[in-house]
Amino acid sequence: MIDVKLLNIHYDDEGLLHQKCKEVPLPLDEEKKQLIKDMVQYLKDSQDEENQREYSIRSGVGLAAPQIGINERFFAVYFHDNEKEYSYGLVNPKIVSTSSKKIYLDSGEGCLSVKKDIEGHVIRYKRITIKGYDVLSEKEVLLRLTDYPAIVFQHEYDHLDGILYYDRINSENLLGFDENAEAI
Ligand code: ZN
Repeated sequence: MIDVKLLNIHYDDEGLLHQKCKEVPLPLDEEKKQLIKDMVQYLKDSQDEENQREYSIRSGVGLAAPQIGINERFFAVYFHDNEKEYSYGLVNPKIVSTSSKKIYLDSGEGCLSVKKDIEGHVIRYKRITIKGYDVLSEKEVLLRLTDYPAIVFQHEYDHLDGILYYDRINSENLLGFDENAEAI
């Protein structure tokens, strides 16, 4: 029996997706905690092919607050990489350090809020350290991420600043196109 809690996904034709989000007021209320847990669960459910067909939803590994219509700084991720599970609901995250090395996903990035795939390489930092309050473990976390996980978190973090992945395609203004960036 499938029981998917559907969230209303907002698209990039809305101004909200292009705005900088506000810090989440603390302490968190129970309703918001539950919503963030629901976002993680939504991502988990979205990765099941049967659910995708049944509910006409797309597979996602990350979901940020503006994508569900909320102008606040929190996001959820759910994915596996190198046999490790990444399952977090981060509130008021901050990227505290970045590598000088850059990378990009050879296949390009995608986004639940962008209906059509836009080709191009999105240059990201190879390593980041990010901190924030994780709703799932109910504590402050400090995560050191490399390669694919680092890309996913940077993509979601960008949503909180109103930046979509295509804003960074070959853009010299934001992160700068780096000829030395390696493909993964
Ligand atoms: Zn996205």
